[in-house]
This record gives sequence, C-alpha cells and structure tokens, in this order.
Amino acid sequence: MQNETIAALSTALGESAIAIVRLSGPQSRRWADCLFRGRRPLAETEPRFMSHGRLVDEAGEPFDEVLAVWFAPGRSYTGEEMAEIHCHGGNMAARLCLEGLYALGARPARAGEFTQRAFLSGRIDLAQAEAVLATIRARSEAGLKAAQKSLAGHLSLLATSLREKILDLSALVEAGLDYPDEELPPLTGPELAEALRSLSGEAHLLFDRCRTGLLLSQGIAIALVGKPNVGKSSLLNALLARPRALVTAVAGTTRDVLEEPLSHRGVPLHLLDTAGLRVPLDEVEALGIDRTLEALERADLALLVLDGSAPLDDDDRRAASRLVGRPHLTLVNKADLSQLVGDDEARALSPSLGLLRLSARQGEGIDALKEAVVDAVVGSGLLDEALNASASQLEELRLVRSALDEARRLVREGLGEDVAAANLAEARSALDRLLFLDGDDALAERIFSRFCVGK
Ligand code: GDP
Ligand code: ZN
Repeated sequence: MQNETIAALSTALGESAIAIVRLSGPQSRRWADCLFRGRRPLAETEPRFMSHGRLVDEAGEPFDEVLAVWFAPGRSYTGEEMAEIHCHGGNMAARLCLEGLYALGARPARAGEFTQRAFLSGRIDLAQAEAVLATIRARSEAGLKAAQKSLAGHLSLLATSLREKILDLSALVEAGLDYPDEELPPLTGPELAEALRSLSGEAHLLFDRCRTGLLLSQGIAIALVGKPNVGKSSLLNALLARPRALVTAVAGTTRDVLEEPLSHRGVPLHLLDTAGLRVPLDEVEALGIDRTLEALERADLALLVLDGSAPLDDDDRRAASRLVGRPHLTLVNKADLSQLVGDDEARALSPSLGLLRLSARQGEGIDALKEAVVDAVVGSGLLDEALNASASQLEELRLVRSALDEARRLVREGLGEDVAAANLAEARSALDRLLFLDGDDALAERIFSRFCVGK
C-alpha cells in the first residue's frame, strides 16, 4: 500500500463534455471532501454512489457543478481508496480542482501510476497491465476485444496453467533421472511422449491466439505486388472503395509505396500498393522497385496480381519468384475481359495459399478477397479466440513452443529423458519471463512508462 495520495486528470485534455479527476491513496476521500459540497460529504455516503454537488475554492466560492464518488480499498481500480470528481470539461474547472487537491498535499500522478498501483497492490499482473495499455491504444474492434480477454486474465491464467503442467512433468522426469531405483512410479516412454504431445499442442494454440491478438492490435500489412499494369492500384482503390492511387494505362505509374488503412470484420489491414516489378527502365523505377522489396519484407501477406486478359510472361514469373517462401495469394485480375490465363498456369507460378479471380474495375470478387485475406493471416477460427500479447510475450511463447517440440523430437528418437528435462526447463523459464515472475523492476517501469498520465 502506498502512503502518498496521487491525483490526476484522467480524461483527455481539451474541450469535452466532462473531465474526470481521479485520486488514489489514503487521503482520497478526505481531500475530495475538502473541495466538494454535496447534500452530504463523501465520508457519509456509500462507496460507488454518485453524489451531486459543487466544487468550492479556498474562499468557499463555488466554481463548478460536479458529480463525485469514492471507492473503498480493495474495491477500486488501484486497490487503494480512490475518489473521482466529474467536472465540466474544458480544462478550467478540472484545473482548479486539481490545483486545490495539490494544495491539500496530493501529488501529481506519474504516467501510468494508477495502473502501477493496481499492480503493486496485487489487483492485476503485468500481463493485464499490458492489456490495459492495449485497450487504450486499440485501433480496431477485434483488437479491443482481444485486449479485454487478456485484461480479464486469460493469458495469465493459460500461461500459468501451462507452466504448472510443465513443472509437474519436469518433476516426474527428474525424479526418474535422480532416483532411478526408487519406488516412484516411473514414467513410461509412451506416457512421456503423450504428455509432451499435449503440452506442445497447448503451447501452439496459445502462441497462435496471441499471434492473432498481436496482428489485431498492430494491423496486418498486405503488399500488392506484380508487374506494371496488372491492376494493383485499381485493386487498392476497389478495396478502399475510393480512388486513392493513380490509375493509368501507362505502365510504371506507381513509383513509391502507398500505404492505406482498411478494416474488415474488425481486423485492421494496411494495404501497401507498390511499384510494378519488372526490369527497371530508369533510376526512379529502380528505386521504386527497391521500395517494393522493402514493403514485401514487412508484409504479413502478399497479393500476387496477374492480368487475366493477357498471356503470362517473364515479368510475371520474375514477380512470382520474389514471393517464393512468403505467404501470398494469387489474384487473377481483369475477369471482366476474356481470359487468357488458366487456373493451373497461374498456380504453377508460385506456391500460393489460394487463387482468386476478380475484376478491380467492376468491383467483382472484392469482398471474397477481403475474406480470404483475413482467413489467410488470422485463420477465421482464431479471430474470436485472439488474446492480447506484446511482441516480447509472443517471442517467449515462440521459445516455449520450440523447446517443447524439441523435447518431443528427442524423446521420439529415444535420445533420453535428460535432454527432455533441459528443454522443459527452457520452456518453463520462457513462461516465467512471460508472466514476469522473475520480478524484474526495470521491466515493470518500462511497461508503466508507456501509459499516459491519469491511467
Ligand atoms: P498497376 O500498374 O498494376 O497499378 O495497374 P493500374 O491499376 O494502374 O491499372 C492498369 C490499367 O489496367 C488501367 O488502365 C486500369 O483501368 C486497367 N484495369 C485495372 N483493373 C482492371 C480490371 O479489373 N478490368 C479491366 N478491364 N481493366 C482493369
Ligand atoms: Zn499502380
């Protein structure tokens, strides 16, 4: 429990209907009462009940009409006694209110300090603190829902349960190693293999759910690639349902990478329209092609665009060769014209995740494309299962997954339980880091410093 009582404006600065000033710490209710004049002081009201009244300055002169409420320790956001004063927006009232509180001895809250106190009082763990941040920063409905699940502790619970199962299995394996002749029921080979299979399945699912959550919060980057004039810019415009990119019949019009946001089924997408891939005619085009390759590097999914109305050529094959080893869909565009490109021919260009025929000009197949894009990256089954996780938490899960897979492989090859034990330990320490169990203060600081003041 912290001794200092902190205060801050918890709503955004600037003109707004209301502005909420929050207090947390042992003097919250008392100091709120120094400024608040209602029918009864907060000290005599039930917690969590809004009281109507006025705020007064030192001279006793009212300066705003407000609602005030207090929360008992253990039943508030921070876990401490808290109070809130809902002033009129527009900064002046809230500023006078805060100045009054500071004059009484409240300390201005640091960025993220309310959430940090929630953590210190054991109300939330650090994974949940990350989720609070993700909630505030969410830019899509799906991202928001994923953050809410982690906030409710889903990620922490699942990671904790996986960690405990790993500990249990380690104990069994190590008991067999340390005391091979004891009366402990030894783990048979098939039992160990089965236990590892189930743990690895859990780790894979958890990784996929968190990866989806991360994609939902960051957005899925999608690069449109192909030789010039196949209709990449037209496709961008059709997806956005507005003319954004310049469309011309002159090949090589798009020379820089255009980036545009779009959302489908609550999933944020960033579309990257790129310069056409071909042997460059001049230096500007060569630069554009470099940018295209950069865009391809950071894309989560690429769309290989082909012109269905003309025979495939070397430029198509060269563009396709850039996509080998990257997840992509093959799009045969200009379906409104008579078609000279067959399905098999298009498929043979590169091992893609799927083939779609569409017409950017007529807007045909655009909805199916959006659906296919989300499916290809997220997998439709996982969309509602997404869990919010930070990039570093996802990295830890990747380690857990590969350590368990490695243990499985070793056991399958009969390489012994001692190696499996080492891999289990590795998986466990990655989960410790994910759950912030090693009590790294610097890490906690880093998380809370990313919050805004008042949260
Ligand atoms: P980009 O160079 O790949 O970006 O191609 P553009 O989008 O600039 O299009 C090149 C040309 O193809 C333009 O004249 C477009 O009007 C035309 N085009 C694009 N999509 C279609 C389509 O679906 N059907 C038809 N008939 N023409 C299209
Ligand atoms: Zn273009």
